[in-house]
Amino acid sequence: MMNSSHYDVIIVGAGPAGLSTALHLAHVAPSLAERILLLEAATHPRRKVCGGAITFHGAEQLRQLGLDMDVPAAVVHNVAFRFGHHEFTTESQNTMHIIQREAFDASLASEVCSKGIEIRGGERLGDLRPVSQGIELTTNKGVYQASVVVGADGSNSVVRQKLGIRSTMGVARLLRAMTPVDEQTTPAFTHHTAVFDFTCMQQGVQGYIWDFPCFVDGQAFLNRGIFDSRIASRPRGDLKAAFATALTERGIAWDSIKLEGHPVRWFNPRSVFARPRVLLAGDAAGVDPLFAEGISYAMEYGAIAASTIVEAFSQKEFTFADYRNRILRHDLGHMLLTKVRIAKMLYRLPFPRICSLLWRFAELAPPAFNRRIGAMLGVFSLKG
Ligand SMILES: Cc1cc2nc3c(=O)[nH]c(=O)nc-3n(C[C@H](O)[C@H](O)[C@H](O)COP(=O)(O)OP(=O)(O)OC[C@H]3O[C@@H](n4cnc5c(N)ncnc54)[C@H](O)[C@@H]3O)c2cc1C
Repeated sequence: MMNSSHYDVIIVGAGPAGLSTALHLAHVAPSLAERILLLEAATHPRRKVCGGAITFHGAEQLRQLGLDMDVPAAVVHNVAFRFGHHEFTTESQNTMHIIQREAFDASLASEVCSKGIEIRGGERLGDLRPVSQGIELTTNKGVYQASVVVGADGSNSVVRQKLGIRSTMGVARLLRAMTPVDEQTTPAFTHHTAVFDFTCMQQGVQGYIWDFPCFVDGQAFLNRGIFDSRIASRPRGDLKAAFATALTERGIAWDSIKLEGHPVRWFNPRSVFARPRVLLAGDAAGVDPLFAEGISYAMEYGAIAASTIVEAFSQKEFTFADYRNRILRHDLGHMLLTKVRIAKMLYRLPFPRICSLLWRFAELAPPAFNRRIGAMLGVFSLKG
């Protein structure tokens, strides 16, 4: 008799990467569904510190899963890019949906459950080791065996740590604060605008400050935060000080906010993405170092992981030696590589004057040109 704690596939982490892996597996190999288990440290709906911006690319990932954006969202048609006194705005209908991660992830989780796949909440992976014919996983509640494990447990991935996958890639730092606003008078709502403000680069931050419109329990808020990619090796700016300056400029007292933070791992093409019988996906594998966009990429990793797993079972070959190449050959690999290159160039720029010139150029450039650049960076779709 099969040991009841043995599964074909155990996915650690029920965020967008783990949930998308499960949904893609259910789609391409429905017979696997009852032999897949998701282990999740929290219980949905669970709290997740995030900007909540789902780009058109994320919407496309949802469409590929046969899903719609069925959670409350603030819709963005205009994206403003700011540097000091320079600003240019690019318009593209429905270019972003700003959601609450609690609701979004919970909705994906209920889709997974509707496919007959079990999610065990409150189960935190503590240890993992190869055993004969599989992997043994120890959580706070029990011991499991799996033929294949997907490490979709986020930027502080225990799976990656336990496999001794050294981190050759970097970690970006992000802080967030939610501030209530008046929906009728706040331009982010009246003009459906999201702001990416790179002025903090003058203070040594290798990233930007965001102001995104969103709704929490029906009430209008601005989801504001600061992202420091730390991708370029140069002296680091003081993240809190830069955020405090930006909030003060926006009329928000520093001591009135609740500051929350979480890291994001960025993609490094030279990194290790798999070990025999184990694949990494989403933040555990690495996402976008230019904008810290990770939701859409996490879902896209799910598609690659699922097809890799199905092929492994059909060939009974579980080394996953080709997983890295599959990622690099995929659209996801191409886009993340482009973003790594641009982030390294942009955030390495030592002179604020060069950024001012870039922004001045963009202010004068025809909108179609800026949209084309935005499309190259995966921010806009040229189709829309
Ligand atoms: C402040 C901030 C703002 C951001 N803003 C945006 C944005 O606007 N748009 C965007 O696209 N991306 C944004 N990101 C990035 C985005 O949040 C991540 O890239 C995305 O969540 C990655 O999804 P994931 O499934 O890989 O990981 P996660 O969403 O982190 O999910 C991992 C899951 O694993 C679980 N887990 C962790 N450890 C264990 C364990 N040991 N055992 C079991 N379960 C475990 C966690 O509870 C979690 O549910 C932001 C990130 C931060 C920090």
